[in-house]
Amino acid sequence: MASSHIEPTVRLRNLFDKGSAVEVNRNIPIRRYYRSCQELIRMAGVYFEEKNYENSYVYYAKFIVLSFEKLKTHPEFNKVPPAEKAANKKTLKIAFDRAEKLKPALKRKYEEEYKRYKENQKQEEEKRKKEEEEERKRKEEIKKKAEEEQMNAFIQEQRRKELELERLAIVAEFADKVKVDDNGPLVPADFAPPPPEPFNDIATNTTTYKPQPTVPTPPALPSYDRSLKPDKHIFSSLTQSKNKYGLRTILSPADLPTKFMQLAHSNTSRNIETCGVLFGKLANEVFVITHVLIPHQKGAPDSCDTTREEDMWDFQDQYDGICLGWIHTHPSQTAFLSSVDMHTHYPYQCLMPESVAIVCSGKFNEVGYFMLDPGRGMNEIGKCRKPGFHPHPTTPPLFESCDHVKPSPTDAVHIVDWRLKPM
Ligand SMILES: [Zn+2]
Ligand SMILES: [Zn+2]
Repeated sequence: MASSHIEPTVRLRNLFDKGSAVEVNRNIPIRRYYRSCQELIRMAGVYFEEKNYENSYVYYAKFIVLSFEKLKTHPEFNKVPPAEKAANKKTLKIAFDRAEKLKPALKRKYEEEYKRYKENQKQEEEKRKKEEEEERKRKEEIKKKAEEEQMNAFIQEQRRKELELERLAIVAEFADKVKVDDNGPLVPADFAPPPPEPFNDIATNTTTYKPQPTVPTPPALPSYDRSLKPDKHIFSSLTQSKNKYGLRTILSPADLPTKFMQLAHSNTSRNIETCGVLFGKLANEVFVITHVLIPHQKGAPDSCDTTREEDMWDFQDQYDGICLGWIHTHPSQTAFLSSVDMHTHYPYQCLMPESVAIVCSGKFNEVGYFMLDPGRGMNEIGKCRKPGFHPHPTTPPLFESCDHVKPSPTDAVHIVDWRLKPM
């Protein structure tokens, strides 16, 4: 467990902080924040049902902080209808209750993990000490052996020298007293000193004695305790997917672009854009686009504006849908995000980081799945106040292809066309 070394209360606090890290952008209409609140509650509920209590807690925390604290700072807060505020207050109470219930459960879990971590630590420490002690003993033995050998060699050498002296003394004595036969040996063979004894080295066959410096064996590398690594993945459970930004995967039914283009055909042939909003569900950390709603709209060759967004939200509420982005056609251009498109996409991505902008080019028969660069792109567009088409930095572009959106061959999309529905 990556975070088990963090003290349980701190860990719980971190989790809440993660949830409360929501900022309100004054340029996103407050009604969209109210929509977003509904989606946060939905996701928290999904995670709760799936027993993913950490993520559930984070989303309840997000909802609480947003509706209890942050929304009040929005300039449009006073324009929110009282009914909407009252409904939000009611949900807030439910969220509080749930979060309060989750807290002790999470704390218990964290305490257990922390206890296990501490026990592990203790075991590791004991193991390390034991290994160190063994290593120390081994080194001591080697040293002792080397000293003994050195001493033996010294004694041998001393004995050889003594014998040599003895021999010389005898030679000197005999030279004085005995007439030496010129052809005979100077000293009787019996008196010859033994040759220096080879150094008694078990490991080598060297016959000469060289005092061997005792080479210390390199100390054993300390075992590397992974659990001590600074934890950069406190919330890894929130970002399990392997894409560039750690976003949750969106499965987009493979038939979606074709179906949408079919319904957009009459517009496309008249060089008019068509747009739709993507809705879906969350299950096991994966979103699936289930519905595309083509709302009442006003299209032009290079733009498309939706009208009556509130109706869309009723539609979304009917099946607890979560907004996952939008789709639009480029009748005569390639698939990319224009400056107006980037501004349209900004609130989607701001409220839901996974949001995708699908662009279908009629003329070039291509489909793009785009998002704003979460750093530079979101930052530039977030602070840009220019209306209509206008230039933005293009090297590199502020948008990019999504790597968290994957085609799903098994799921089919429902497209709901409201354009002919009476207003
Ligand atoms: Zn466009
Ligand atoms: Zn701009």
